[in-house]
Amino acid sequence: MEKVLEVQDLTVKFATYGGEVQAVRGVSFDLYKGETLAIVGESGCGKSVTSQSIMRLIPNPPGKITRGSILFKGRDLAKLSEKAMRKIRGADISMIFQDPMTALNPTITVGQQIAESMMQHENITKEAANKKALDMLNLVGIPNPKERLKQYPHEFSGGMRQRIVIAMALVCEPEVLIADEPTTALDVTIQAQILELFKEIQAKTGVSIILITHDLGVVAQVADRIAVMYAGKIVEAGKRRDIFYQPQHPYTKGLLQSVPRLDLSGGDLVPIAGSPPDLFAPPIGCSFAARCSYAMEVCDRVYPGEILFRNEHSVSCWLQDERAKKLVSTIS
Ligand code: SF4
Ligand code: MG
Repeated sequence: MEKVLEVQDLTVKFATYGGEVQAVRGVSFDLYKGETLAIVGESGCGKSVTSQSIMRLIPNPPGKITRGSILFKGRDLAKLSEKAMRKIRGADISMIFQDPMTALNPTITVGQQIAESMMQHENITKEAANKKALDMLNLVGIPNPKERLKQYPHEFSGGMRQRIVIAMALVCEPEVLIADEPTTALDVTIQAQILELFKEIQAKTGVSIILITHDLGVVAQVADRIAVMYAGKIVEAGKRRDIFYQPQHPYTKGLLQSVPRLDLSGGDLVPIAGSPPDLFAPPIGCSFAARCSYAMEVCDRVYPGEILFRNEHSVSCWLQDERAKKLVSTIS
């Protein structure tokens, strides 16, 4: 399968008055053409910072990509100038957020907004842009698109507004769409419709999607592969089936146990007892050790390496590593 995006060892820090926050700590993953990769985890785990880094939307200062690379079409986005990045943002890689209202201008008709987001990147006539806006409303399933183009954001429901935002994000036919909690603000039925829309659009356009969410219900509906993040690191990654039916990391298991019906969306993850570590001074060993009922001595002392549990299913946990016992005896 063709790789569209290759993130390697991404490390992002934020300088604050209280010290340096290590928000993303050496994250690596690939995104393939036409797939949906979900990045899942509790709030503060670094999933949004990861996606904002790909878009280079981390405000610097205080944020900074301190290590790693983000390869897209042979270029490292982590090192591009803001000018070069502006050409990519919205045109090659697009992003949508939780609240559609923040992405829409309340004083401009939706047709004009979609047309304008296209004209920012492409040298086309207003007529062609308007025609494209109409096509886009059709693509995202808005009824009576011709009339609707002339309306303002407040004349649409929340779900319809998110469809318009998706239309804007896709108008330049990007290769990657990053969706950060795209359905969190919507009620359950509308959520399901938007997720269905992602699948339809992907089938029609071949766009690769990175879906950022805390909600495993959302993931169950659309993800091809899942990366589970905890305290700034990916702790387990694999195909959706493997993560749902054969989770290996105690944190992933905890997340899954906290969702009663995996085939239904809705409901926040019930937090696992305890809280994530302080990212001002993250543990040197496994970040989950303080909350893990399987923790061994080695877990506190050495971060577990990534073990390939099975084809395309990787996990960072000492339970998977035969050296764990030996290491305990050498370090104690
Ligand atoms: Fe638990 Fe140790 Fe595995 Fe971390 S490495 S998840 S503490 S068993
Ligand atoms: Mg977030």
